[in-house]
Amino acid sequence: MRQYIIAGNWKMNKTVSESVALAQSIVAAVKDIKKVEVVIAPTYLACAKVADVVKGTNVKLAVQDVHWKDQGAFTGKVSIDMVKEIGAEYVIIGHSEQRQFFGETDETVNLKAKKTLSAGLKPIICIGETLEERQGGKLETVLSTQIKGAYAGLSEVDALNTVIAYEPVWAIGTGVTASDEQAQETQAFCRSVVKEIYGEKVSEALRIQYGGSMKAENAQGLLGQKDIDGGLIGGAALKAETFFGIIAPAEQLSA
Ligand code: PEP
Repeated sequence: MRQYIIAGNWKMNKTVSESVALAQSIVAAVKDIKKVEVVIAPTYLACAKVADVVKGTNVKLAVQDVHWKDQGAFTGKVSIDMVKEIGAEYVIIGHSEQRQFFGETDETVNLKAKKTLSAGLKPIICIGETLEERQGGKLETVLSTQIKGAYAGLSEVDALNTVIAYEPVWAIGTGVTASDEQAQETQAFCRSVVKEIYGEKVSEALRIQYGGSMKAENAQGLLGQKDIDGGLIGGAALKAETFFGIIAPAEQLSA
């Protein structure tokens, strides 16, 4: 069985001191969680201090992006060595906000994924369609293009060290969630694309999270679906109680 992974993407929220306090409450809330992989992604600025809070606990650290170059004149960017040094294990790559507002493309997602894997860290690769694309019958083409673009040139071993986050853009931060059936059907399709590239063994092992207004009220239904292996959580990850409200059903379902 694939291990559930619940990751909180804090986006541009929380000052450094607020981040430390939130990380402390999350660490306390999940101390008895044994089966679910719990990950938090604060802002870059807060990461080093949050790393001290989560060290030696069952909470892992992620960053929200990385550059694919090792160093140099890339104002505002952060390299994989910087990320690795503070002890992060995961890197969120290709979030729809990066794609929409900051020029992320399938090609840059691929470069970032390669750089992350080469440093021994694990990419959480975000994909997802807009409402217009879904309604225009382009769902499968969009997702298949994004997956194939992200994984171009990655070996099977590399692929096994990645996680896909399927996040319908129309469900992110909107309060509108994909239905259990919609999410399951789409994620089964994503898994079939992975199978097309790498075969059954990899596609059955690779974890696919759902993201888009996941919260305590809908987590059980979504996480109970065969092809949903966790969640990438925005809004509900900003309070320990609401984040725990998603982790708890994942732990129960793992039993
Ligand atoms: C996200 O940004 O990845 C996300 C899923 O946000 P929210 O949970 O707020 O919809």
